[in-house]
Amino acid sequence: MDYNALANLLFPDVTAQPEDMENRFPQRELPAGACVTRIGPSPTGFVHLGNLYNALIGERLAHQSGGVFYLRIEDTDNKREVEGAVETVISAMSYFGVNFDEGAVSGGDNGNYGPYRQRQREEIYHVFAKHLVQRGLAYPCFLTAEEIDVIREKQTANKENPGIYGEYAACRDLSIDQVKENISAGKEWVLRYRGVQTDEYIAVEDAVRGKLEMPRNNMDFVLLKSDGIPTYHFAHVVDDHLMRSTHVIRGEEWLSSLPMHVELFGALGWEMPIYCHTATLMKMEGTGKRKLSKRKDPELALSYYQQEGISADSIWEFLLTVLNSNFEEWRIANPDADYRDFPYTLEKMSISGALVDLDKLRNISKDVIGRMTAENVYKNWLSWCEEYDQTFAELIKKYPERTVAALNVGKGGNKPRKDLETWKQACVFMSFYYDETFTVADEMPEECDEETRKLFFAKYLESYDHADDSSAWFDKVKTITDELGFAVKPKDYKKNPDQFKGSIVHITNMLRIALTGRANAPDIHEVSHVLGEDIVRNRIKNWL
Ligand code: GLU
Repeated sequence: MDYNALANLLFPDVTAQPEDMENRFPQRELPAGACVTRIGPSPTGFVHLGNLYNALIGERLAHQSGGVFYLRIEDTDNKREVEGAVETVISAMSYFGVNFDEGAVSGGDNGNYGPYRQRQREEIYHVFAKHLVQRGLAYPCFLTAEEIDVIREKQTANKENPGIYGEYAACRDLSIDQVKENISAGKEWVLRYRGVQTDEYIAVEDAVRGKLEMPRNNMDFVLLKSDGIPTYHFAHVVDDHLMRSTHVIRGEEWLSSLPMHVELFGALGWEMPIYCHTATLMKMEGTGKRKLSKRKDPELALSYYQQEGISADSIWEFLLTVLNSNFEEWRIANPDADYRDFPYTLEKMSISGALVDLDKLRNISKDVIGRMTAENVYKNWLSWCEEYDQTFAELIKKYPERTVAALNVGKGGNKPRKDLETWKQACVFMSFYYDETFTVADEMPEECDEETRKLFFAKYLESYDHADDSSAWFDKVKTITDELGFAVKPKDYKKNPDQFKGSIVHITNMLRIALTGRANAPDIHEVSHVLGEDIVRNRIKNWL
């Protein structure tokens, strides 16, 4: 067989040589040890928590080492592509503060190793496809879907591995005339790799999993589909070589196709990147773990975290605790440090399934927001509101000073309050600071009947002096408490409940509900000062 003639028949317009591609995408000039990493999401409209998880590893490895982190859009599967999906990926990554040094950007590309969308790289893949044909390592296959079905049935019946290989690879040895005839007859073809029939094993050193031993590929797998678009397998090898990736970080679902990739790197004479196959995201169900499912678990979608208003920093901290077993220890030792200072390593990664625990995420988020200054909370919260809750955005823009003061309540001290978990929950929690959103959500304590309430609030208003400091203010509350026959010391009430109508706890709860609408709220004196005298008086008057 004249492979050159075959290559020219299949790719008449391809004139560039592999060397031209090597020259077009030269080795990167980076310091020794610098990692070049990427994520390669498919634009399906669904951005996975797994995309962010792998992004975080790639970003850390690249930026900790002075390397490059880039975004490549893997759009070879047009059946899965959804309008606007590339923009969705880009905006989700930007929401979570993932910074790419190069790659696809909204409406174009940024960087010298592009295009960064696989469909725009067709001519590049074809250079290498032609080269493989010239060397007898790839061939056109005219098997139809129906013929492949028949083969699969036969293989199932014979308990053989499914696929096109060996005797099943019917088009392996077509003559050039047969190929010409098929093409002139308008038959569709795919380009297949010519697999070697062997029982050999290969060994790959995975940076997360250690040494992997697997049977060498013996399949005639597809390199180019009938429309000339490459499969993931071929595209990934060509791209990661030419874009000079040093590490390929991807989910463990790709482990089974690794032998194809190893085969291709070998056939093309290229050095393999370091593979890092990350653990599948799991969740607890009952006492066992199971894979997160797109259908059952909204938390698998990144949009869930955006809509809930989980701050970018919270999700990073959370993923770092999932990713590196020593992160939590480091965080305790370095409570105020930026998480980017944590020395991230692949060796500390678990391979037994990464557990996504939303309660844990919320707890981490409370700490993260708790550590932010009130001004930063305001800024981040506002930018979330502008996208997801415009009414609230307007409100906090109308009262910026009050809002920052409110966000400062309970901060500092050795046991700072941690009321805020997410931006969405902040809109609920903070709503009592604004008359526009204030509602009374909790019931008044039953110890405080209507008569008590009226008496108390009348006396409270009469004695209220907005200038009182906390202790002067509290002394007045105590005096009224006593006058109304309530115990000033809760333990007195506990000892002799019959002697009192209730205790100061009931009184302050009543007051807290009048001012904030709920029994669980920050310090009344502090809150009153954020609200201002008019609002305080009005809210109390409502009970008279
Ligand atoms: N397009 C692949 C995916 O979405 C990316 C795998 C890779 O990063 O190589 O799973």
